[in-house]
Order: sequence, then structure tokens, then C-alpha cells
Amino acid sequence: MSYSDGTRVVHAGLPAKPVVGEPFLPGPVFAAPFHLDPATGPGENDYARTQHPTRRALEAAIGELEGAPTLAFASGQAAITALLLAVLRPGDTVALPADGYFTVRAFAEGTLRELGVSTLLVPTAGPWPDFSGVRLALLETPANPGLDVCDIRAVAALAHEAGALVAVDNTTATPLGQNPLALGADVVVASGTKALTGHSDVLLGYVASGDDALLGKVETWRKQTGAVPGAFDCWLAHRSMATLDLRLARQTANAAAVSAMLAARTDVSGVRWPGLETDPSYPIAAAQMRRIPGVVSFDLGSAERVARFLTAASLVFAATSFGGVHTSADRRAQWGDATPPGFVRLSCGIEDPADLVADLAAALDL
Ligand SMILES: *Cc1c(COP(=O)(O)O)cnc(C)c1O
Repeated sequence: MSYSDGTRVVHAGLPAKPVVGEPFLPGPVFAAPFHLDPATGPGENDYARTQHPTRRALEAAIGELEGAPTLAFASGQAAITALLLAVLRPGDTVALPADGYFTVRAFAEGTLRELGVSTLLVPTAGPWPDFSGVRLALLETPANPGLDVCDIRAVAALAHEAGALVAVDNTTATPLGQNPLALGADVVVASGTKALTGHSDVLLGYVASGDDALLGKVETWRKQTGAVPGAFDCWLAHRSMATLDLRLARQTANAAAVSAMLAARTDVSGVRWPGLETDPSYPIAAAQMRRIPGVVSFDLGSAERVARFLTAASLVFAATSFGGVHTSADRRAQWGDATPPGFVRLSCGIEDPADLVADLAAALDL
């Protein structure tokens, strides 16, 4: 029996059968070392950096949704850098999104360059380069913060033809929004800090892949470098995932209402939401994604107007990150992201759509 999203997230990673007297979701296990068999030594749980039951349950849950074995990391950056460093060697070239998460580019321009790895920056909306000589192509779709979308199947085919591995950063979409592995990617990386867990209270990352050799390399990397999430964070994340379908549904509805309101205004420019039929990303997003995330971007012209808007809005928290239950907005240029000074990434929360639209419109009128 194949269940729908709402059912899958409620049951993802739970014990196969109810155990009388036990909670539905087993609580966090606080242990670094575990008792070993005095004679045979290492077992299923031996030391938390290698094996941990709460982390395994979370990995099973994410793995069910992404469709492949999954390794959890202490943050999205820990997961992404683990993949890059486990795969790339001196002399290699990595293709990265020119318009994707800026810390990944900073890592490539710093640490990877110092290790002798070259970077090819590629705009998410294309045009796509010749991938000859590229070891790994990392795609990010929808790209954060510009929200361009790329055709994973088409780009993966091009990159595979040239012998490159294909990774997709699935942070913004979440595995309920799209399944990159089913679209031809070799590996998924993501931050679970955003919509996947959605309560703005945990840092998390993961790598998922059906390529056992590749995932084995990443697991060895994790074991030896140690960027594992703690038991409580794993449990909190797992608990939060049960509401993913509900949260995303409301975030999408809010983004649809907010982007329509913004697009109709003459004092707001560059409104982007891949679910708007007029958006350049719409055709590919509609074909490739199962749902459109709650992130909208637009330009208010100046840092000063963004500050006025954020001060006036009661339902919008000024904050970086996105995907949480509270609507938040970030002026990306304040972090050094290469965006115009008035560019805003707005992350729709799960508030009532009419309340949210009214609050945003009133704040823009001021
Ligand atoms: C936030 C983010 C990351 C990094 O995740 P952290 O959990 O903050 O380390 C990576 N990729 C994308 C697309 C992100 O939005």
C-alpha cells in the first residue's frame, strides 16, 4: 500500500510495530558510549559518533521521504562540506550554482581552492556548460534566494554523459516538494534547519544516496570528522517532521496569496515565486515539483524601505533562515549575499492567509 504525504510523514521512521508501554516516537537516548558485549565488543550501538539509535530513527524517516539511505549531520553546511570533501581531490573541478546558498560558494573559494579544487559557477536557470572534466555538479533548485529552478533530469543527463556525479541541494523544496533521486540525481544534500523541521529551533543537515560506495565514503568522513547532530536535536527534528505535509500546505497557500498581492503592486518589483504562472521558473517547477515552497522574493528598492516594512509588519519577523512556522523576512545584502540592497527573501509561515496578506499590505502602504 502506498500512502500519501500526510500519512507518510506521520509514520516515517517510527518503530515497525507498536511496542506496548513505549511511546509512539522513542525518546532521545542520551549516551556517548553504550554498554558493549564484554566478549564480542562493538555492536549496533557502540559510540554515538558512529552509531546512535535516535539518529538512526531520524535517518530512517528522512530516508523514507528521499527514497534512499540517509546520513544526518549537525547542520546543512556540515552535510554539504562532507560530500564535497569526501568526493573532491586536488585537480578536480566542482560545478556549483552561481546563485545558490552563498556559504557553499565561500567554502569553494576558500578551502576548496586551497586544496587545489577548481570551481565552475553555473547559473541555476542556465545556460548549462560542457561538464567535461567536472567531478561533481551540485545543483540547487529552487535556488536560494533568487528562486530560479533547473530541470534536474536534463542537467543530470548532461553531467552524467561527461562522467560527473550529480548532487542536488533539496533544502528549499524538501523531499515532499521534489525527489531529486527519482529525477536522476546521484545524491541529495540538504539543510534540515529550514522547512523540513520548520520550527526554527534546530540545526540539521543530511546526505541521502542510493550509491552505497558514495554514501560509505561520506559516512567514513562523518565518523572521522565528527559533525553529528545530538540526540535531542535528532528527536526534535523527527517529532517536527510529522507535521511537514500540513506546514508545507499552509506555507504554499500563504505564498500563493502573498505573491499575488505583491505582484499586483506597482511599488514592489521583481516578485519571484515559482508557483506564479507568470514566473520564469513556473514551467519547469510545475513539471518537476510536487509542491512549491513558501518562499517568495522581491525588491523594495532600498535597505531603508525594507527596514520600514519590517518595522511596520506585525506578523513578519526579521530573521535569516526560512521555512519555519513563523513568517520571516531577510534582506540578503546585509549578509554579503550578491543581491540588490532592497532584495527581500520572505518565508511564509503557517499563519492565517488573510491575516498575513493584510499585515504585509498594510506594512507596505506605510
Ligand atoms: C541554509 C541552507 C544551507 C545550510 O544549512 P545550515 O543548516 O544553515 O548549515 C544549505 N543550503 C541551502 C539551500 C540553505 O538554504
